[in-house]
Amino acid sequence: MTDSRKKLIAGNWKMNCSRAEALQLASAIIADASESADSDILVCVPAIHLADVSKLTQNSHVKLGAQDGHWETNGAFTGEISVSMLGDYQVDYLLVGHSERREMFADSDERVAKKFAAALKNDIKPILCIGESLEQREQGVTLNVLQEQLQAVINAVGIEAFANAAIAYEPIWAIGTGKTATLEQAQDVHSALRSWLANHNAEIAENIQILYGGSMNAGNAGDLLGQSDIDGGLIGGASLKAEDFLKIYSVAG
Ligand code: PEP
Repeated sequence: MTDSRKKLIAGNWKMNCSRAEALQLASAIIADASESADSDILVCVPAIHLADVSKLTQNSHVKLGAQDGHWETNGAFTGEISVSMLGDYQVDYLLVGHSERREMFADSDERVAKKFAAALKNDIKPILCIGESLEQREQGVTLNVLQEQLQAVINAVGIEAFANAAIAYEPIWAIGTGKTATLEQAQDVHSALRSWLANHNAEIAENIQILYGGSMNAGNAGDLLGQSDIDGGLIGGASLKAEDFLKIYSVAG
């Protein structure tokens, strides 16, 4: 364990919030989140609200994230938004490889790696989401699955690129289900991932933030964030209520 790793409390709003609700939620978070030397707070908002929310976050210490972006700068990709366009809205972070995008929008390891690389090229920090299904966990192949997902990106961009990235371990069976991984399950995976990364580059393994995601809430966050290799949370449902999200941020330190 190291004290040098700052915690990152990241809200993933997914496809939620009207414009008015987004402004209200962002304003409430900004108003009450006091700056901390030990943790950062981030909201990953729907793309259509980036311009509005960006005006608020720019004058605050709350960071802004996007949930997806296309790796090409521009072109004939109807309906897409490029990662480079996100830069116009002072986006600090980009989620890549979220299991909902892998499962429902055909985000293969190859596409995930391209998005990861595009984020770095545009000075946006990627948060690489990885996770196993319940079936994979029951088959005992959790670490193999996670390592494959990581290796695909390492092969594309090199391990050094992870100096400017974060990882979110999100067991798919825990996302949006109310079933949180036990402290032991989460810590074991985080620690195993850090050891595996250390075989590639010890310094990067020591410094990289590995967030836990999967039904983290105001009640369980303290225990999860107290684990030595859990450096923050990627939070869906509980990030939509300012009070709950701020409570998680406050227990992070
Ligand atoms: C997520 O969307 O990344 C997530 C972890 O969702 P929830 O907190 O709702 O499980």
